Amino acid sequence: MAETALKAKKPGTTTTAEAQQELTDGFHLVIDALKLNGLNTIYGVPGIPITDFGRMAQAAGIRVISFRHEQNAGNAAAIAGFLTKKPGICLTVSAPGFLNGLTALANATTNCFPMILISGSSEREIVDLQQGDYEEMDQLAIAKPLCKAAFRVLHAADIGIGVARAIRAAVSGRPGGVYLDLPAKLFSQVMDAEAGAKSLVKVIDPAPAQLPAPAAVKRALDVLKGAKRPLIILGKGAAYAQADDAIRALIEKSGVPFLPMSMAKGLLPDTHPLCAGAARSTVLKDADVVMMIGARLNWLLSHGKGKTWGEPGSKKFIQIDIEPKEMDSNVEIVAPVVGDIGSCISALLEGMGSKWPAAPADWISAVNTRKEENIAKMSSKLMKNSAPMDFHSALGALRTVIKERPDVILVNEGANTLDLARGVIDMYQPRKRLDVGTWGVMGIGMGFAVGAAVETGKSVLAVEGDSAFGFSGMEVETICRYNLPVCIVVFNNNGIYRGTDVNPTGGSDPATTVFVKDARYDKIMEGFGGVGVHVTTPDELSRAVNKAIDSRKPTLINAAIDPAAGSESGRIGNLNPQSVVRKK
Ligand code: ADP
Ligand code: MG
Repeated sequence: MAETALKAKKPGTTTTAEAQQELTDGFHLVIDALKLNGLNTIYGVPGIPITDFGRMAQAAGIRVISFRHEQNAGNAAAIAGFLTKKPGICLTVSAPGFLNGLTALANATTNCFPMILISGSSEREIVDLQQGDYEEMDQLAIAKPLCKAAFRVLHAADIGIGVARAIRAAVSGRPGGVYLDLPAKLFSQVMDAEAGAKSLVKVIDPAPAQLPAPAAVKRALDVLKGAKRPLIILGKGAAYAQADDAIRALIEKSGVPFLPMSMAKGLLPDTHPLCAGAARSTVLKDADVVMMIGARLNWLLSHGKGKTWGEPGSKKFIQIDIEPKEMDSNVEIVAPVVGDIGSCISALLEGMGSKWPAAPADWISAVNTRKEENIAKMSSKLMKNSAPMDFHSALGALRTVIKERPDVILVNEGANTLDLARGVIDMYQPRKRLDVGTWGVMGIGMGFAVGAAVETGKSVLAVEGDSAFGFSGMEVETICRYNLPVCIVVFNNNGIYRGTDVNPTGGSDPATTVFVKDARYDKIMEGFGGVGVHVTTPDELSRAVNKAIDSRKPTLINAAIDPAAGSESGRIGNLNPQSVVRKK
């Protein structure tokens, strides 16, 4: 048939016999399908078989950001998805590149971030017979259990449908990661240009609103109205939903204290009178009704039970989520409200009417008392200007920077660097805090920083533990190459958790958790033409960060932290088993 006859020719060429017939191919169709759907940025690493695809995408006006490792490209795509509600696109080579990207895809799925991992793959006929192709791997089968959906396109004429399915799967319902397998041969498959154009699909309403049932809304309001000590927990699903005004209205109208999960910080300012962040343990323990908005009762919330949550049976949970299967996943949800957060919050607001009772005054004042105590306790720790710095004094400096520059995007990973920054640095605007998320994964730093800078054009401040930074540190080259307004602060305490461990055998190998002593991470940045600064006091740190943000130049600040500061696994030491039996 026509397709085979045309195959040998380059796109755009015609013979006299087929005069006037314009051709297209897989390369062009994928690019056109992405552009048609407003997917104008690709994060990836070039190589076989997608090198030319990347070039052609750039030539066609897509912004192509080339990384040094696929996992970082994948993390950039994932955070692009979180920030924009459009699937972030990651492009990789086959087998090993695909596997590197897959870590980010699985992480995106776990966090409910929409992204599409597009990987080139080897010859199907050879892979399926296991005849040993270049980078042979059954990528589709491997991706399937690790993401929300996985598709392979074998015919150029199906590219439009394949891309459309991938987009819908990524952003509809609970968002997540989608794998799209594109075998090398597909790219050069040729077809008639007009038929090709017709085969493309512009996805209409990719994430349709999901309205909650009126009875579910009423049930939730009845439970909330009966509360003596109500609490609202905002999760990153609430941040993702971009229903910021409605969420603020719900909280202010109900007068209920709210607790933001890490990436929901700033949805309302942490300094809002109803923010209970500084009274976290009290409100979790004492609340009698908890309304979860786009947050899951997973390990980050002790599964909704145990001593964090006070007396067993002392709570009723209302949960607002787009995923019906999330309900009752850990504890009974007495009032499930299933739908998209925007629609659910609007329905709740409407149901509350104009005469909603004020939250009980004794509860509000108990929460405020505890907040004030905790804030006072913390504030003295943040003001020390000593060398070497500890975590609190260094973070105190950064806290002021964010207060003065609330639209800077904060990326944060590490152990102590993460746990303490989350508590110390107040956030003031939605979706400005990006961190290790549901898995508590290390290695998101530079990928998130690049993705956030590219998608928003805003300055990014990446606050990184020295260990965490190492997972994606080579991307400082990427940051310099694209001249992105990213300022990295490495909290350098010479090791993982602390820099003071010693080898128990007394041998010459270092202890397993320490790094090169007094390393100068700032020199890496200088090597690529960025600005490197070494600081030892909070004053120097804040001067250097302010300068970096003003200049918008790629900057890495090596912040020397006392190697003895820091605790094992930060705040989650309980998850790190320690032997009580030590052999001599
Ligand atoms: P956090 O870690 O901040 O608590 P989670 O990632 O655990 O947040 O929870 C996010 C929840 O938000 C998920 O259960 C997800 O299904 C839900 N979610 C994501 N987007 C939406 C949306 N637009 N509408 C409703 N629920 C959403
Ligand atoms: Mg460290």
